Amino acid sequence: MQNHASRTAAFLKDDARTDWHNQSIWHVRSKRDNLVHDIPEWESIRQLGSDIKDNVLSNLDTYLEQFSAAAEANGVIVHWAADAKEHNEIVHGILAKHDVDRIVKSKSMLTEECHLNQYLEAKGIEVVDTDLGERIIQLKNEPPSHIVMPAIHLKKEEIGELFHEHLGTDKGASDPQYLTEAARGHLREKFLAAKAAITGVNFGVAETGGVVVCTNEGNADMGVHLAPVQIHCMGIEKLIPRAEHLGVFTRLLGRSATGQPITIYTSHHHRPKPGGEMHIVIVDNGRTEQLGREDFRNSLKCIRCGACMNTCPIYRRSGGHSYDHTIPGPIGSILSPGKDLKKHKDLPFASTLCGSCSDVCPVKIDIHEQLYKWRQIVSEEGHLEKVKSIPLAGAGAVLSKGGLYNFMGKAARTALKIAPRALVYNQFNAWGQSRELPEVPKQSFKEWYAENRK
Ligand code: SF4
Repeated sequence: MQNHASRTAAFLKDDARTDWHNQSIWHVRSKRDNLVHDIPEWESIRQLGSDIKDNVLSNLDTYLEQFSAAAEANGVIVHWAADAKEHNEIVHGILAKHDVDRIVKSKSMLTEECHLNQYLEAKGIEVVDTDLGERIIQLKNEPPSHIVMPAIHLKKEEIGELFHEHLGTDKGASDPQYLTEAARGHLREKFLAAKAAITGVNFGVAETGGVVVCTNEGNADMGVHLAPVQIHCMGIEKLIPRAEHLGVFTRLLGRSATGQPITIYTSHHHRPKPGGEMHIVIVDNGRTEQLGREDFRNSLKCIRCGACMNTCPIYRRSGGHSYDHTIPGPIGSILSPGKDLKKHKDLPFASTLCGSCSDVCPVKIDIHEQLYKWRQIVSEEGHLEKVKSIPLAGAGAVLSKGGLYNFMGKAARTALKIAPRALVYNQFNAWGQSRELPEVPKQSFKEWYAENRK
């Protein structure tokens, strides 16, 4: 059966891709660091962002009602979806009412989570993702591998091949400018033909009932302004109380995501355009359940910047697809076990627990601590694989008894000196396949300390 380790092993077979993936993503992390260090008040903005989100989560029912009442007063049609199925049915119902057979969609992790594309396509509706990275992976029939840079796992030569096949670009062409212009021309036709536009939502403002969509390509704006029907799909946790709080989050988001002071487009949608229709679909899909988990409710503060992925040494060297979940990386490894613990039991272990994710998170989510808590739950609920549970039980027994620990340390130091190399470095021991044990010390630290620090 495939798991994170086996999918990572497959990714690591391509050394060149692994190095290049690692370096590209580290470059984004470095850009983030440069911009963050430019603002002396960064830590106070982070704290403010975290506090605002805490307030939202503690008063979510009130803010949701305030938001929907304000939106309806603006002439927006508000829908509530308990889960992905209901979300997809609502969106389809709106499109069916207007006889829409082709739509454009800007980047939305929520619609990915709900598998909206597949649902609508099965109903005969053409869905075109208009974010360039999203369009690339849509043409390649793959899920995104990163929440901000969905096609970061692909090289420009592979995109050239893909565009040659689907868009008729020159064979062998891989110049990014040329390929981007080809995509622009292709998407322009789709924009003009679409009868409805769907966007995700970065922030919903409770006080005004407006939604804010942040992009770097302007594709969400193009879609919404051209199509008569606009639909904004929003998770319940996306709310912020007041418009004045936007300044906090737009500063946090752009810097953390791509190392920009602000995203190129920060668009505010409040009411339908003349003759048009505006819908907001507010989606739960497991979020209320997560809110009820005391140890994990914090994860709902996430503003989907991707910084925890960019800094994670595991993510950078395993690729987003190794997580087999819509949201990969450290935050995905907290969210996915809440959806299906058995299926995603390996993800909380896809971490060194170094804490770098928590350090960069703009809303101060204690990511690595939550990963550690999930590990305990996986173990307590009996989902740990034997290959982990048996050695861990043994380690627990040894580490909890001082005398036994001393004895085993001495025995191991002797055994490792005389044991044949094949005992540690063999095909059955994954640990030894890419590591070397350090030289075995002559004595334990305790013995050394007793001798030298009297
Ligand atoms: S958990 Fe924090 S760092 Fe990771 S995507 Fe969410 S907001 Fe960004």
